[in-house]
Amino acid sequence: MLVSATEMLKKAVEGKYAVGQFNINNLEWTKAILLTAQENNSPVILGVSEGAGKYMTGMKTVAAMVKAMVEDLKITVPVALHLDHGSYDGAYGCIEAGFSSIMFDGSHYPIEENIAKTKELVDVCHSKGISIEAEVGSIGGEEDGVVGAGEVADPAECKMIADLGVDFLAAGIGNIHGKYPENWKGLDFDALAKIKDQIGDLPLVLHGGTGIPAEMIQKAISLGVAKINVNTECQLYFQEATRKYIEAGKDLEGKGFDPRKLLAPGFEAIKTIVKEKMELFGSINKA
Ligand SMILES: [Zn+2]
Repeated sequence: MLVSATEMLKKAVEGKYAVGQFNINNLEWTKAILLTAQENNSPVILGVSEGAGKYMTGMKTVAAMVKAMVEDLKITVPVALHLDHGSYDGAYGCIEAGFSSIMFDGSHYPIEENIAKTKELVDVCHSKGISIEAEVGSIGGEEDGVVGAGEVADPAECKMIADLGVDFLAAGIGNIHGKYPENWKGLDFDALAKIKDQIGDLPLVLHGGTGIPAEMIQKAISLGVAKINVNTECQLYFQEATRKYIEAGKDLEGKGFDPRKLLAPGFEAIKTIVKEKMELFGSINKA
């Protein structure tokens, strides 16, 4: 059974750890992440971007696959199925499809419109037991083709959005999506502390978890970050393992062309990196 992310993140704030959101792209990704969560007794959030949802033929397919897989694999740890960077229409689509958590990213709307749409979605989500994340300030890097500048969120604006009743809040603190550039200045912990002052115990979300040094992740968790999004890193691990398999000519040996064999090294690589992240975030044995 899928659960909203509200309870698991509340526990994470209290326990000073973070729950990983790992984005899924297909069946192998989903299976690797669910099995790793179960093996390590960790709560987990499966993230789905609108682009990945489209790739998997639609959000109904995604919700049906995830629900069935949780059942077939006998997964008992808390699992939330979460729309990542949802548009207004995309959010409604996922609510209808049976997602247990939604991110409404209204950061590109004028603030009044962002507030009105967020408030509306908060009410709809809560009436259905679904958790909702909002974003303040755009997060740098590329989000489904939209390149953000990596701003630092305004604490007063964070408070305004938090007061709408969202369950957790993504606020830019110098983090960006994808790989970090050589000259990246690191996370802005002063900004994080100021935001935390404004929003109290509301869980904070750190997007762009790939490539942030471990000490910075741990410091961010100590300052109130309770959800960390990881996407690119799983893709890089999958790619590297798949490349090795093919470069070693293993696809040419015996039945090495069988997709179940061809995709196995990438699958194992995702399991490895997800477990590493769960260790770093402190979510192991927190289910
Ligand atoms: Zn993001």
